[in-house]
Amino acid sequence: MPRLADRTTRIASSPTMAVTATVDRLRREGVEIIDFGAGEPDFPTPEAVKNAGHAALDQNFTRYTPASGIVELKRAICDRYRADYGVQYAENEVVITAGGKQALFNAALSLFGLGDEVITHAPYWPTLTEQVKLADATPVLVRTHAEDGFTIHSEAILEAITARTRGIILNSPCNPTGALISEREAAALADAAARHGIWILVDLCYEKLIYDPTPHNLPKVFADRCRDLTVLCGSASKAYAMTGWRCGWAIGPAAVIAACGAIQSHSTSNVSSITQKAALAALTGSQETVRAMLDEYRVRRDALCGWLAADPRLRCRKPAGAFYMFVDVSELLSVEALRTSNDFAQALLDEARVAVTPGEAFDAPGFIRISYATSMDQLREGSARLLEFVRRHAPQPARV
Ligand code: PMP
Repeated sequence: MPRLADRTTRIASSPTMAVTATVDRLRREGVEIIDFGAGEPDFPTPEAVKNAGHAALDQNFTRYTPASGIVELKRAICDRYRADYGVQYAENEVVITAGGKQALFNAALSLFGLGDEVITHAPYWPTLTEQVKLADATPVLVRTHAEDGFTIHSEAILEAITARTRGIILNSPCNPTGALISEREAAALADAAARHGIWILVDLCYEKLIYDPTPHNLPKVFADRCRDLTVLCGSASKAYAMTGWRCGWAIGPAAVIAACGAIQSHSTSNVSSITQKAALAALTGSQETVRAMLDEYRVRRDALCGWLAADPRLRCRKPAGAFYMFVDVSELLSVEALRTSNDFAQALLDEARVAVTPGEAFDAPGFIRISYATSMDQLREGSARLLEFVRRHAPQPARV
């Protein structure tokens, strides 16, 4: 077979999506699975958003739009960010993309290239580093640790800066850890970025899913300190339960956004016209559904945490944001058959029919990620199966 391009050897396909594919396959085969793998809301898209999609169809709004998106939606994003974060952006500083994923990809292709180093924090959502590699640049990883809640320390990131550093990618709330970067640490990074002329790419995919009132105005922190070097990547997927619609955006300096738009104009072109109208309704309508979903995730998070506490060897903390519990299972991995968290996840699926994502997917062996974007009944049943599975494989040492 003729050789594939070199870049294909540098990347692997998404391990988080592989879990979803396995669950789909097993379900099609009639196997009943508790799915803790899904990285997406289980809620339906809000009615008003769906209605806007229907209306777009009825009005035959089904043609090409400008490749970078319709101006009303760009304006709505600017208005949303002004209202929510107090930052001022103009329509030519926004590009509408097929999910946050494409926003990040366009930005990576626009900003990074051969010989460049791009720093991010680990554990990480694997797409972030794979996109850096697709842009021919090199990801540089700075570890965060379970012991201090996976806090991002700016000093650790600053220490990783070299003459080749071209960018820093931050994801807060973080998938898979649920950790938030503090405004103070973000400000330190912003000041350093301004000093060194380094790009800051902020993945705000879970920006609306923060449980407690915490100062976390990253758009303002970066816009105030290094606006010319900041690209904010957002998404309608998680906040508005719109994963399948594919709508995200990048906000940043006009020259970067123009480059993102040019790349998009030669790759996917515009996001579906219908999706854009639906996203417009999501961003301009009542934000009550966002709050209601967050409240429900909080109840689930707390319940799940309570159930898992029954076995202290499933070590976890309540995440501050997103909808994942990142559980340290390393204490359970000594037995012959379960040497890695990959083995653990596979055996849990085979024996207990519970799908979780192994930490290996996020460069964090020894962990499993449990998504609680699923119903309370599924969470209760899945937790019971997980606890039973653990008891079977690793009986608690007898207490003396
Ligand atoms: N960033 C993070 C951290 C994510 O977990 C995801 C989705 N899993 C995305 C971005 C992109 O999501 P979408 O393309 O659906 O907006």
